[in-house]
Amino acid sequence: MSTSDKDKIHRFLFDKANIRGEIASLNKVWQQMQVNHNYPEIIRRHLGEVVAASVLLSATLKFEGSLTIQASGDGALTLMVVECRNDFGVRAVAKYQEASFSERADEADLKTLLGDGTLIITIEQAKTKERYQGVVALEGNSIAEFLEAYLARSEQLETRIFLASDEVATAGLLLQQLPGRNEDDDSWDRITHLGSTIKSEELLGLSAEEILHRLYHEEDVRLFDPESIYFKCSCTREKVTNMLRSISHQEASDIIKEQGNISVDCEFCGKTYQFDEIDIAGIYSKHSQPSDLSTRH
Ligand SMILES: [Zn+2]
Repeated sequence: MSTSDKDKIHRFLFDKANIRGEIASLNKVWQQMQVNHNYPEIIRRHLGEVVAASVLLSATLKFEGSLTIQASGDGALTLMVVECRNDFGVRAVAKYQEASFSERADEADLKTLLGDGTLIITIEQAKTKERYQGVVALEGNSIAEFLEAYLARSEQLETRIFLASDEVATAGLLLQQLPGRNEDDDSWDRITHLGSTIKSEELLGLSAEEILHRLYHEEDVRLFDPESIYFKCSCTREKVTNMLRSISHQEASDIIKEQGNISVDCEFCGKTYQFDEIDIAGIYSKHSQPSDLSTRH
């Protein structure tokens, strides 16, 4: 893959068929998300797929803020959180039960890994702080199948999503039928069938141009300029401070007495936030408001 295609999202359009498409490809950004984690292979693969899916979804939905896909369950994979902003700043983390993974590479699908689980998509508008939440039914085995069913129901749009992920890269192809399709038009069936022939190694290794040529050299495709995807953690001292309020002043003081300070690591980026005795006194003082604390750095 040429370097210009790494960590990019490409949009394209089949003008005559009224079908839009996207190819998302993450390399360095995906590797950065794994730096502080040593995920078992199967967890890494599914997390990578959700990361690619979050970028594809962010490019199809209109919002200014963040889109979060959160899956949780009682299975081996207990929690997965992927956040993608409308400008394609992404962060991701997964939690799992260590004991559930043996040395063999497990082939379990996402539904099995989650067990009795839920998957929620949250869109938060940055300016208004307005939140939209949608519950995604676990229909099918993969995040691609869950989202296809979800989009058909919530957006009334037929969508096909193809994902691939390994240690080095994660990538996805999305095809979506836009409104205004002719009944006798078989282009959706033809274009999605061709899309389904894409192999994982092609999705991960080829450039967007190469993928489109490989699949659609006989179709009229308009490819737009790509946009960059980057790693972005939205953690702040203020957010960590607010989280600290969930423990009592007494508990916080006990930790300070024992360890000298309270140290909180961000699960997404690994950044450490330290709080000493004076910080803690400030957090729990009656006059302290979250807005006051945001100016203390
Ligand atoms: Zn962070």
